[in-house]
Amino acid sequence: MSRKTTLLNCPIDLVDSENAINQVDEAILEGKNFHIITINPEMIMNAQKNSEFLEIINSSELNIIDGIGIKIALKLRGIPCVNVRGVDFARKLTAYANEKKLPIAFMGAKEEVINKACDNFLKEYPDLNIVFKQNGYFKNDEEVILKIKEANPRILLVGLGSPRQEEFILKLKKALNASVMIGVGGSFDVYSGFVKEAPLIYRKLGLEWLYRTVCQPERFKRIFPTLPIFLIKCIIETIVKRIKN
Ligand code: UDP
Repeated sequence: MSRKTTLLNCPIDLVDSENAINQVDEAILEGKNFHIITINPEMIMNAQKNSEFLEIINSSELNIIDGIGIKIALKLRGIPCVNVRGVDFARKLTAYANEKKLPIAFMGAKEEVINKACDNFLKEYPDLNIVFKQNGYFKNDEEVILKIKEANPRILLVGLGSPRQEEFILKLKKALNASVMIGVGGSFDVYSGFVKEAPLIYRKLGLEWLYRTVCQPERFKRIFPTLPIFLIKCIIETIVKRIKN
């Protein structure tokens, strides 16, 4: 079991990637569906105004920490934790699928991006059993879900951006019965090489968001004012909790 806490009514699992992979391993052995969310401040803020999304965040099996914002908010509450980084964790899941010879599916991003990402994974893991791949620009969810059901993957990486990917996984959960599913946002853009990963120093300092914002200035409005408001709300929640206790 992982140690859980909550931020603004969203459960957060205080696990590192090793522990998360162990939980995936258990789910695979038990043959059950397992939804992993790589949770960040933007998602938590979205959940404050979107009750269906809040419900998805509360019904997933594992919410791992993705982003320095969550780490800071927990630190302010005196809770030490690691920032797992979704893009790294999904890579580890792929390595895990390769090692265990599990069928894997990749979906999301533009056609050339998903193709290049799959090629890159196959260069790294020539025996990787990719049973399904699909770009993220399709119209009919049900048609795609049916194809995924037929392909029967044990691991599924879904990169449609949030909350679309989590909503899609919710539908998939009803159709599949033994799959580990994770929303990976723009990770395929990174795996394909179309988007450069932040240099190690930025990643180590938790400043990847700064690098990505400088490279893609249109992301600025996604971070501001969301991130400061998120932190202020978390601080208020922490103070209220302390007063109540
Ligand atoms: N995307 C998609 N279908 C859509 C909209 C977006 O496949 O209808 C993909 C998009 O190509 C990109 C990813 O979803 O690869 C979203 O990336 P973003 O950087 O917004 O996600 P983040 O990493 O910030 O969660």
